[in-house]
Amino acid sequence: MKKKVLAMMLTAAMAATMFVGCGEKKEAEAPAASSATSEAAEETEATAEETADAAIEKIIFATNPEFPPFEFITPDGVIGEFDGIDMAIAAKIGEMAGVEIEMQSMEFDSLLVALQNGQIDATIAGMTVTEERAKSVDFTTPYYTATQVMIVKEDSEIAAAADMDGKAISVVQGYTGETVVQELGYEYEAFKKGTECIMELMNGKCDVVVIDSATAQKYVADNAGLKIVEDVEAFGAEEYAMAVQKGNTALLDLLNTAIEEMLADGTISELSAQYIDA
Ligand code: GLN
Repeated sequence: MKKKVLAMMLTAAMAATMFVGCGEKKEAEAPAASSATSEAAEETEATAEETADAAIEKIIFATNPEFPPFEFITPDGVIGEFDGIDMAIAAKIGEMAGVEIEMQSMEFDSLLVALQNGQIDATIAGMTVTEERAKSVDFTTPYYTATQVMIVKEDSEIAAAADMDGKAISVVQGYTGETVVQELGYEYEAFKKGTECIMELMNGKCDVVVIDSATAQKYVADNAGLKIVEDVEAFGAEEYAMAVQKGNTALLDLLNTAIEEMLADGTISELSAQYIDA
């Protein structure tokens, strides 16, 4: 109710400004309207819809749906056949900001290239913020904290990252798991998909898979005889964020407003718990 009243006040203030400024320069409209209502604006929390750039009607996201519980394909997903924590978050952003959401599927390695080329508007893919990636795109406020872990057979003696020395290690190409193993200085084999790494491990072709924590939990739950080994010293915290083209502040603001609202009201923790426990 309060928000509706405020919206009406805003509209009235803008109309008044436009009326007064009629025949004058058009640029004066927006700043005049916002300064006139700054006091009222402080009284309420801005919602994604109110702060959204009116020009944004649709967001074309891309993901790589090979990363459960964040994104995977299922017959009845939350966005078409796409389901998972990220997909539920994207759907909520659509509702909150009153924009249409389209989801495209591509290789993880292609996401940032497609973004830079303007083929898509944003990525939502359990993507870790890294300095390297931040050189080519702008990241939103992070919405999830993860870490790399090791998946091994239940009877494995690997108990710490240092135990991987001389072992056959599998990672997914382009994931931060690959970077982490590279930085530790170990040899490894890179595969296209997490499931391929798990197959290698199940078939005894490798000794350990290094991958993100929540995805590892899912694989261990789905495949008998595997366990997770953590090493907080070796693997630091990673933060997942969405990415937009460098300088796309209108979309970045829309996404950040929605993310911050969903972090504050517990929506993101609820969605995560829902998919992680499933
Ligand atoms: N968090 C990892 C990364 O950013 C893996 C992400 C993913 O596969 N979706 O590289």
